Amino acid sequence: MKALLLEQQGTPARVQEIDAARLPEGDVTVQVAWSGLNYKDALAITGKGKIVRNFPMVPGIDFAGTVRESRDSRFRAGQQVVLTGWGVGENHWGGLAEQARVKADWLVALPPTLEARQSMIIGTAGLTAMLCVMALEEGGVTPESGEVLVTGASGGVGSTAVALLAQLGYQVTAVSGRTSTHDYLRELGASHILPRETFFEAARPLESQRWAGAIDTVGDRLLASVLAQMNYNGVVAACGLAGGYLLPTTVMPFILRNVRLQGIDSVRAPLHRRQTAWERLASILPARFYQQAATEIDLEAVPEAATALMENRITGRTLVRIGG
Ligand code: NDP
Repeated sequence: MKALLLEQQGTPARVQEIDAARLPEGDVTVQVAWSGLNYKDALAITGKGKIVRNFPMVPGIDFAGTVRESRDSRFRAGQQVVLTGWGVGENHWGGLAEQARVKADWLVALPPTLEARQSMIIGTAGLTAMLCVMALEEGGVTPESGEVLVTGASGGVGSTAVALLAQLGYQVTAVSGRTSTHDYLRELGASHILPRETFFEAARPLESQRWAGAIDTVGDRLLASVLAQMNYNGVVAACGLAGGYLLPTTVMPFILRNVRLQGIDSVRAPLHRRQTAWERLASILPARFYQQAATEIDLEAVPEAATALMENRITGRTLVRIGG
């Protein structure tokens, strides 16, 4: 089988022909059709982040494909499945290969209306966006509550969050560091677009109230500014650190405006929550989302695309065609 292999930290990833007998332990072997390129994959492949714990490693934190063999009664050969998270592509060989062998508990059967390629346009990023939207809903944010802000809006998580929120009837303001992506964000459904810099001045503990909800993929000063601008009872779903892992904020938004900061983790989200999220993604996202938001590459082009992603030169999802 063909696989992108990382031999050790700091050495370039290379596509190699390897024996499928080297696949790790697991109950289900999947013929991978599509994988995706995520921020975490880019960190692993470029060596810019210590994502990979054991070498050699096949990166790829998400994939979709067809079951080849299963020792678990929940899955049978020929079934379409999707995998995101669980440390796959970090501690366990991942999706940037023709085959993957994983634990059955990590797999979700694809909703019947969703094709494998579409599920990888959504990918880990889209699943995370859906979990963020669910967190806003559970915090009581409705389309009538007011505007919702999405940061890092032209990235994988941000762009899907914009599309989901717009489709659900929310007024969405997108924050983006790039003017080149404004048309794309409007097509996805953003009503307003704000430049990233406007959030970089040191935030006062409380600013004018502007947002009923926010989905933040950036962290650091941007998230601190967003917190200071939340409406009374506002909810922020924080899932990313594209701008840094610090959070230079105060307790004021929490104790004077009843603001809720909800962390979002997609990696170990329980199975029932993943299933709900995948079903909702399949039903909410319009057909045009799948045309707008994806660039297709093959396995050989992944290292170059990972560099581009680290340099913020990529918009939306990058799909890796493997057997699809
Ligand atoms: P992308 O690289 O696709 O998008 C990140 C976006 O953030 C960019 O498109 C850019 O948007 C913005 N950005 C990039 N660099 C900076 C910077 N230095 N300062 C401020 N904004 C910046 O990544 P993803 O969308 O896949 O992931 C977003 C974040 O969410 C990442 O930190 C990732 O690790 C995290 N994540 C977390 C998950 C979880 O389970 N919690 C799961 C998946 C991802 P623009 O140009 O529009 O400003």
